[in-house]
Amino acid sequence: MELKPPELEWLNSKIPFSKKYEDRYYSDENPLEECKHVYLNPNGLANRWTTSTEKRFIVAEIGFGFGLNFILTAALHAEHGIDKQLHYIAFEKSPPTQKQAQQFFKNFPELKTFSNVLLNKLPKLISGCHRVKFSENITLDLHYGDVKDEISDFDLRNLKISAWFIDGFSPTTNPSIWTNFICKKISQFSRYGTTLSSYSAAGSFRRNLKTNGFEVKKSSGFGRKRHMTVAKFIANYEAPRNKTEIENTTDSVAVIGAGIAGCAAAFSLAKRNISVQLFESQEHDLTRISLLALRPRLFKDISTESEFFLHSYLYAGSQLDLHSIDRDIGWNKTGVIQLERALNKRTNISQENYRAIYPNSVFHTLTKKQAKDLSKLNLSRGGLYFPDGGFVKTGELCSFYLDDNKITKNYSSPVHSIEYSNGTWTLYSSSQNTIAQVKTVIIANSHSLTQFNQTEFLPISITHGYSNWFQKDQKQDEPNQVICGEKTIFPSTSFEGKGHLVAATYEKFLSESSKLKAVKENLTGANRIFTNQSFLLNRIKGSEAGTRCGTPDRVPYIGRVPNIALATKELAHLRRNAKAKFNITDQCFWPNLYITAGHGSNGLSTSSFGAEIIASIINQEPSPVSKRHSNLICPSRVIVKGLKKQRI
Ligand SMILES: Cc1cc2nc3c(=O)[nH]c(=O)nc-3n(C[C@H](O)[C@H](O)[C@H](O)COP(=O)(O)OP(=O)(O)OC[C@H]3O[C@@H](n4cnc5c(N)ncnc54)[C@H](O)[C@@H]3O)c2cc1C
Repeated sequence: MELKPPELEWLNSKIPFSKKYEDRYYSDENPLEECKHVYLNPNGLANRWTTSTEKRFIVAEIGFGFGLNFILTAALHAEHGIDKQLHYIAFEKSPPTQKQAQQFFKNFPELKTFSNVLLNKLPKLISGCHRVKFSENITLDLHYGDVKDEISDFDLRNLKISAWFIDGFSPTTNPSIWTNFICKKISQFSRYGTTLSSYSAAGSFRRNLKTNGFEVKKSSGFGRKRHMTVAKFIANYEAPRNKTEIENTTDSVAVIGAGIAGCAAAFSLAKRNISVQLFESQEHDLTRISLLALRPRLFKDISTESEFFLHSYLYAGSQLDLHSIDRDIGWNKTGVIQLERALNKRTNISQENYRAIYPNSVFHTLTKKQAKDLSKLNLSRGGLYFPDGGFVKTGELCSFYLDDNKITKNYSSPVHSIEYSNGTWTLYSSSQNTIAQVKTVIIANSHSLTQFNQTEFLPISITHGYSNWFQKDQKQDEPNQVICGEKTIFPSTSFEGKGHLVAATYEKFLSESSKLKAVKENLTGANRIFTNQSFLLNRIKGSEAGTRCGTPDRVPYIGRVPNIALATKELAHLRRNAKAKFNITDQCFWPNLYITAGHGSNGLSTSSFGAEIIASIINQEPSPVSKRHSNLICPSRVIVKGLKKQRI
């Protein structure tokens, strides 16, 4: 999961040189002019941006390096004042560290305005896709890892790349990216007219492009290089898609449920200039758990699940940081200390176990002494420290999400049922009155999701929980981090005199007796975090109850909602042969119906990532997750598993 940065030498202390590939990243004559000559100009970017009627222009680069091509593309986009969205997708196997990137851009002060933004937003060196919102109209998806793996699992749905920059190390030292396999993938993601350029004019590469539908030309290279490759995809001509057909689905969107998942979804759409009608059954003052901790769900093996939860955590943290720059959104990046055996009570996972899976940049291990030094508290054990974790004030974060005049808020408006007919979804009240008619619906009503005919088949598990506020012993120091032990204790907040929130119990039912029992359980559990076990006083200052909606595989439902009748029919062969190949076609899904629910105990991280995934699909953008992750979270998995096990 953690990637190795490149081992570098610096030529004339300016041009990075890869020791592994024995090759320089850029020309030592004039790297900026080289990038323009080889990539920006032959792909006709500026001209295509100003003349094309398409809503979005997608550039894909193989070999991101230090991001110079990206920075120059972004600068060109700004120079021409283009409001068309630029989506830049880049593959990179050995991304530079922050320090290496800083050293590189130091030599190009003229690019400072753009390179500083990139430097501030460079993700950690972890494999998978990292979405970086570079500016209002530029999105950068950095796919870290071997291009062969990343491109094989790349999820563009029916979108196509407009221009390719092929900028890996030379075919002699790095043959794997110039192969027929990669060229075939490039062609799959291209449409008639897609352009491509590369500094390399290697014969085998040009032949591979030709075999895969490109018209290939040699043109003069930059500086000492005699030739380079310029190509155009000339296969599969398709008439351009009807623009109104694409835009129709974003005309009107309804989100059902104003919990953190619904608010995040509404926010992600509004940010894309899409109007949203939000329907919430409760009154304006929603009862929510006041504080939610941001920490990753940890796994003992590397798996699609562990990757998804790690990326959710990283994405949510990066977004909270970003939105906090110029206003208070209720985010407190305090770091999280997780004591040994805290969150994985069923299987005891050692620090070494975690260290083998998760990179150092995500957490540090702590001995008991280190935990004590860091927290300045008498903690009973060592554990893990997540420097990018923290907590949010849920109400403030949701208010921030909804503070956009593109979002119409309808409180005390329970949606009883939804029905699809002739391209329109109708939302009904319990008295069968029409509440709204929209093109697209997002279901975000958590454990009530089974109330709708369309999502009734999705299995969920419901657990309630109590959190309590306690005052601490005056003699004890303040905790500055969120500390997770048997229970989680939050630093004190501006909630008047309430002290510390302790979360949480797991209950089958909410009742007066379970509420009383919970106080004791939370107090004792929180105090066991400390050696003297009397950190919090037995003086309760408030209590909160909430409900978690989990799923049997503990992965949320995020994505398009399948039509169970049609999907079951199309995939019926899985009942006879569980190992048979299958493909879930578009027809198996309800048109323009999405869900984000089942977030279990991790809603703060998964709902923010889920919102971005769904908004990307609705707005016809590349997805920030690969195919394996989309399949993992898509509710259609329930039907596939059910058929394979002959349960449906
Ligand atoms: C005690 C406790 C502590 C927790 N601590 C943490 C934590 O520290 N960190 C963390 O990440 N997660 C935590 N969680 C989990 C987290 O709260 C959930 O994952 C998250 O709230 C789920 O958000 P949601 O929007 O899916 O659901 P909800 O917050 O339940 O929101 C669903 C909304 O839909 C509305 N609704 C339902 N039906 C309809 C309808 N028909 N029409 C209109 N509206 C409807 C409901 O009124 C509700 O407002 C905790 C949970 C509990 C119970």
